[in-house]
Amino acid sequence: MRGSSGAGHSKVPSKKLAEYEAKRDFTKTSEPGARVPKKASRALRFVVQEHHARRLHWDFRLEKDGVGVSWAVPKGIPPDPKVNHLAVHVEDHPLEYFKFAGDIPKGEYGGGQVMIWDEGTYEPVKWSDREVMIDLHGKRLQGRYVLFQTRGNDWMIHRMDPPQDPDRQAMPSGITPMLARLSTTLPKPDDSWGFEFKWDGIRALAYVDGGRMRLQSRSLEDVTPRYPEIHAMGRALGSAEVILDGEIVALDEKGRPSFEEIQQRMGLTSENEIRRKMKVVPITYMVFDLLWQDGHSLMQKPYTERRAALAKLKLSGASWQTPPFEKGGGQSMQEASAKAGLEGVVAKRLDSKYEPGGRSGVWQKIKNHNRQELVIGGWLEGEGKRRGYPGALLVGYYDKDRNLVYAGKVGTGFTDRTLDDLNQKLKPLASDKNPFQAGAAPARGAHFVKPKIVAEFEFVEWTRGGQMRAPSFKGFRNDKQAKEVVREGG
Ligand code: MN
Repeated sequence: MRGSSGAGHSKVPSKKLAEYEAKRDFTKTSEPGARVPKKASRALRFVVQEHHARRLHWDFRLEKDGVGVSWAVPKGIPPDPKVNHLAVHVEDHPLEYFKFAGDIPKGEYGGGQVMIWDEGTYEPVKWSDREVMIDLHGKRLQGRYVLFQTRGNDWMIHRMDPPQDPDRQAMPSGITPMLARLSTTLPKPDDSWGFEFKWDGIRALAYVDGGRMRLQSRSLEDVTPRYPEIHAMGRALGSAEVILDGEIVALDEKGRPSFEEIQQRMGLTSENEIRRKMKVVPITYMVFDLLWQDGHSLMQKPYTERRAALAKLKLSGASWQTPPFEKGGGQSMQEASAKAGLEGVVAKRLDSKYEPGGRSGVWQKIKNHNRQELVIGGWLEGEGKRRGYPGALLVGYYDKDRNLVYAGKVGTGFTDRTLDDLNQKLKPLASDKNPFQAGAAPARGAHFVKPKIVAEFEFVEWTRGGQMRAPSFKGFRNDKQAKEVVREGG
């Protein structure tokens, strides 16, 4: 029986809270001890505490018989009746705990930050040992929920009412990132553009829900395990449901994104190798767009609105940042990018929508150097100790008729390591056939290969004959398909 207000119930909690007390040292943690509650209020209270412990979870507590009956909910309270969440029944907590927010010392039970995510009152509808149905009247949560036991301490929490937000939609997956069209100059200054630095790395969308995140590459590959540094961003976002767009970069010793560095992280699949490389080549996720938030797409909203919503998320951590954008003509941004040794700038129309997979020109990239992805169609032997191994590459791109057009020979920009990689990648692709249109590449001494490997090159300009002047190798593009490689601008 629940104690009624004013009546003496001095003995009630002591036994029920034994487990709670046993797990804590109250000389070390500022959490409430198991003191006797002063007075039961007429309206029963509930609280949801976001708990950044070793594993992020939400503690759902209902006042009952002078204690807080508690469940730990790893993915938070489900907003939609279509999705049930696991709720692990845990020991009763004292009612004083309902007001607790703060830090539990590291090393103590439940060490980590506790925040009050929601609080209010509830009305019990049904209450048995296996099923608890309640109507919540919180600041965030309104409506009927049921918790039911599935096995042992494992319960499920289910929303019985329709979603509070009737327009709420399920989070989509598999969004192809929007692309920028190459431009040789900044757009005409007319106050309709925003400018960002262009990051030289790996494009990735982050899908975050219930503190967990999934990272998806441009080619829709799940690359979550490859970049463990970013996972904590999911936890930092708490219960926010978002889809972010950004670029994963590896910063060199001068703080510039280095495409050559990030290549060392791109192809890794073994957990050990990833852990080892994390220390050598740490990465940062540069977040520049917000496509989805709490059941709603933002993709139809203008760029400025999306950026404003993104700024509110205050995404800034050890391995993730929200680099700024700037209105105006873009010159200062372009100069700063050149000075900092960055790849260039991206101009985005302030009123533009997010077009998945689109390259309509409302986003434009202006590079400080010519850069081009090309397909390797053959190689020439090196000299000296590199005889028999690749020393220069024969490269090309696809024209609109799907012919591989020869773009030149590249013999610089390689480290010993990349030459070894090239050797490993190219030899199994050996082919008798010259893959270039009209046999344009020099056949003499050439080892042709099936055109599968994509790499990025920097060069001064396109010659009149359609070849690159002074090209150098910048890195492999394992994230790109050979068939997508076309000539950009210039
Ligand atoms: Mn907890």
